[in-house]
Amino acid sequence: MSNVPVAVVTGSNKGIGFAIVRALCKQFPGDVYLTARDSGRGQEAVAKLQEEGLHALFHQLDIDDLQSIRALRDFLKEKYGGLNVLVNNAGIAFKVHDTTPFAVQAEVTLKTNFFGTRNVCTELLPLVKPYGRVVNVSSMVSSSALGGCSRELQQKFRSDTITEDELVELMTKFVEDTKKSVHEKEGWPNTAYGVSKIGVTVLSRIQARMLNEKRKGDHILLNACCPGWVRTDMAGPKATKSPDEGAETPVYLALLPSDADGPHGQFLSNKTVRSW
Ligand code: NAP
Repeated sequence: MSNVPVAVVTGSNKGIGFAIVRALCKQFPGDVYLTARDSGRGQEAVAKLQEEGLHALFHQLDIDDLQSIRALRDFLKEKYGGLNVLVNNAGIAFKVHDTTPFAVQAEVTLKTNFFGTRNVCTELLPLVKPYGRVVNVSSMVSSSALGGCSRELQQKFRSDTITEDELVELMTKFVEDTKKSVHEKEGWPNTAYGVSKIGVTVLSRIQARMLNEKRKGDHILLNACCPGWVRTDMAGPKATKSPDEGAETPVYLALLPSDADGPHGQFLSNKTVRSW
C-alpha cells in the first residue's frame, strides 16, 4: 500500500474540475487523480496536462453510477488505504432556453448534482484520512434559490439540526412536486439547478456537523463553495472568470494547511465565508 497522499477531483476532464487538477498537480504533494465518466475524454485531458509538464493520474468515475463510485472507492482503499483530498466538482446544468419539460430537468439535474454527489460522499467520506480536506462545489445560485423558497423551506434548509435523511426527503419531494406541477405552490423556486445546489450546500453543512460528532480528533475540514462565474461549457464565453481563476477557491479549500481549524461546514466564494 502506498503512503503517498492522494487527491481526487470529480468531473475533471474539462472546465473548472480540469483547472482544479492542474492547480493541484502544481501544489499538492502527492498523487492527483483526474476522473471522468468517459475514459476517452479523461485520458485526453491527462495527456493535455502532460503537454504542460504536469502529471495527473486517471480513474474512471461516473457519479450517477454507484458501481463506478464503488470501484473507485475499492481502488483507493487498496492502493492508498484511503484518500486525503476529495473535490466534488462534477455537475450539470440545462441551458436557460432548453425546452426539456421542467419535471425532467428537475429529475436529471438532482440525480447528478445532489444524489450523485451524495453517493460519492457516502462511499468516500469514510475513507478520508485525518487532516483530510473535502470540497463540495456548489454555487451562489444555491443562496439565491434559498431566498426564493417559502419561509418554511428556508427554515428547514438553514436548520442546524436537519439530518441527511430529511434533506434527501426534501430533494425527493422537489422532484415529485415538479412532476405534479405543484412545486411553486409547495414553496419551491423555479430553478432545478438552484434547488440541486441548495442540496449540495446543506449536505455540506450536515456532513461537517457529522464529522464534528463522529471524527472530531481527525481534523478533517469540509466546505462548500462557489467558483464564481466561470467561462466553461456550462456557463458560456461571457462569464467573468477563467477556469484557472474559478479553481482558486476550491483549491484554497483543498489545500488548507494542517494547522488550520477552519473554515469548516461553511459556504465560501472568493475565499470568503458567506452567510447562509
Ligand atoms: P462543465 O465545463 O460543464 O464541466 C462539468 C464536468 O462535470 C465535466 O467534466 C462533466 O463531464 C462532468 N460531469 C457531469 N456529469 C457527470 C457525472 N455523472 N459523472 C462524472 N462527471 C460528470 O462545467 P463547469 O462550469 O466546469 O462546472 C463545474 C462545477 O462548478 C459544477 O458543479 C457547476 O455546477 C459548478 N459551478 C460552475 C459555475 C460556472 O460559472 N461555470 C458557477 C457556479 C458553480 P462530461 O465532459 O463527461 O460531461
